[in-house]
Amino acid sequence: MSNISRVRVPKPMQRTLLLEAGYRCSLWNCTNQVSLEFHHIDQNPANSVPENLLVLCALHHSQATAGNIDMKACRLIKSALVDRLCGRQDMRTRRQYVTAAISELRNTKTFRGSTVGPLFLRPEWCMERRDRTSQMPNFDRQLLHLVNSAPAGDIRIVFRNTERFRQKLDVLVPESERARFVHDTLAGIERLWGSGERGPDLICRDTGHTNIDLIFDAAVLSTFRRHQFSPIEYGYLSRNQHEIDWAIQRFDSVFDAASRGREIELSQLKAFVVTLWTTS
Ligand SMILES: [Zn+2]
Repeated sequence: MSNISRVRVPKPMQRTLLLEAGYRCSLWNCTNQVSLEFHHIDQNPANSVPENLLVLCALHHSQATAGNIDMKACRLIKSALVDRLCGRQDMRTRRQYVTAAISELRNTKTFRGSTVGPLFLRPEWCMERRDRTSQMPNFDRQLLHLVNSAPAGDIRIVFRNTERFRQKLDVLVPESERARFVHDTLAGIERLWGSGERGPDLICRDTGHTNIDLIFDAAVLSTFRRHQFSPIEYGYLSRNQHEIDWAIQRFDSVFDAASRGREIELSQLKAFVVTLWTTS
């Protein structure tokens, strides 16, 4: 066990680490603010890089060295500290995620993200029907509002036209109304894009990615799903500018690589709507 003075951690790095920990033991329930020490997470005292150093009080340092607080626990404590510093906020439930997304949508002019099928484009009568049955706040309505008010180019949307979209519609739209649904949705597409001279950037294919980012002016909502047809399971919101910039780069590179050009993507979207119930 070593205390601060005996570990060769440069002074500036010490300051950074102590700031990260809030000048106290990093264990959540520990209130100790004195006798702080640097624990080498991998138990290698020569590895004094910031990622490997955890600020602990003398008692918890000895427990970590003895392995009572094991290496994995130390890594989790460390990553929680870093997340807090990055301004990350965990999204543990779907409701939390949707609520955060709507609140960001209200305060943004730009948007990048993906959506299951052209959900937000469905006709008003269909949306109202869903609002009555859904327990969730309405993300689609807010997205439609933004899309209608933003100039082209500030918004890029990936329409993932998966089976899940069709399944949702099967429940919402009885057979007798499906022709009307297709007609009204196509009219909505026409209103938004015309013949492609206006409206948001779009691609109409699933990029297969299981990590999905919704990117706003001042936040990125990063989410994870197990595979491309399963719902979102976990996510976090970050207001860290580097993280936002990085998410934009990642999104745009996938988007640009997948795009077959605006005209083709728009005609693919229309074709998808037209063939909703004609293929089995
Ligand atoms: Zn402690």
